[in-house]
Amino acid sequence: MVLQELGSKINSALSKLNTATVIDEETIDEVLKEIAKALLSSDVNVRVVAEVRNNIRKEVLSEAAAGGATNKTRQIRNAVFSELVRLLSPSKEPFTPKRGRCNVFMFVGLQGSGKTTTIAKFANYWARKGWKTAMVCCDTFRAGALDQIKQNAIKLHIPYYGNPLEADPVKLAEEGTEHFRAEKYEIILVDTSGRHHQESELFEEMEQVQGVVQPDEVIFVMDSTIGQAVAEQAAAFKASVPVGSVIITKLDGHARGGGALSAVAATDAPITFIGTGEHFDEFEKFDANSFVSRLMG
Ligand code: GDP
Repeated sequence: MVLQELGSKINSALSKLNTATVIDEETIDEVLKEIAKALLSSDVNVRVVAEVRNNIRKEVLSEAAAGGATNKTRQIRNAVFSELVRLLSPSKEPFTPKRGRCNVFMFVGLQGSGKTTTIAKFANYWARKGWKTAMVCCDTFRAGALDQIKQNAIKLHIPYYGNPLEADPVKLAEEGTEHFRAEKYEIILVDTSGRHHQESELFEEMEQVQGVVQPDEVIFVMDSTIGQAVAEQAAAFKASVPVGSVIITKLDGHARGGGALSAVAATDAPITFIGTGEHFDEFEKFDANSFVSRLMG
């Protein structure tokens, strides 16, 4: 279900409150059931949905609203809003790069998630602000990965490091980051291999790359269109490397907004940016309040 659809389903559930003469526990439960259904069909994980539902229920039932049905409706709407924002805003702050030092970001995510494109967008974002930025390719698994980085690097006028003759991703990661650290680059972005599946080799490789690169932040790149697999995938990455923040891609056209909610719940890491298209400038800073406002209209 697309993002707008999720919002309109939530709103249509809430609008039932406008026609009710009394808003009792039964009415509230009916509305919450519908909201839960909307979240589930938008790929929010079952456990997350149950948590959201219970929290809203508790909040709404514990507070007696003065002024009758209108106020109760507003109270329920506010509770839904703040619960969705809460879900999207974990207490952990993302890493903020500092000027005049090397800030190393390691990107992880399955093949096809949009990792390489996101690195180019992220590089472009910082380079445009005047930060000395570079990219390191240590994806030796996918044929064409280095070429893709190279083409992006040329378009963006950003240096990159890669070696088609080196088959060891850990060595490449180490050499590449050392090279740019020595040159005092401020933003160093490391692209890792994604492969197709969540195989144990992939996670072992990521752990090793993380060990030699010692990144300031590990960014998990997640495709918003993968549906129910989101929660499981995010948890698997989190179990192997310390995911510090999340970037959600493909939140354009047919986006499933619910995936974002599940990814945050599974990693307990904040979303920092979203990808909204294939172009380098289709990249936005993520803001939970405006995301939910847009969702609920
Ligand atoms: P990787 O295998 O994870 O490195 O993925 P790529 O960066 O090669 O991206 C896979 C495909 O997704 C490419 O066709 C990208 O153009 C596309 N893609 C990446 N990010 C976005 C996005 O935010 N929106 C859309 N529509 N497509 C994207």
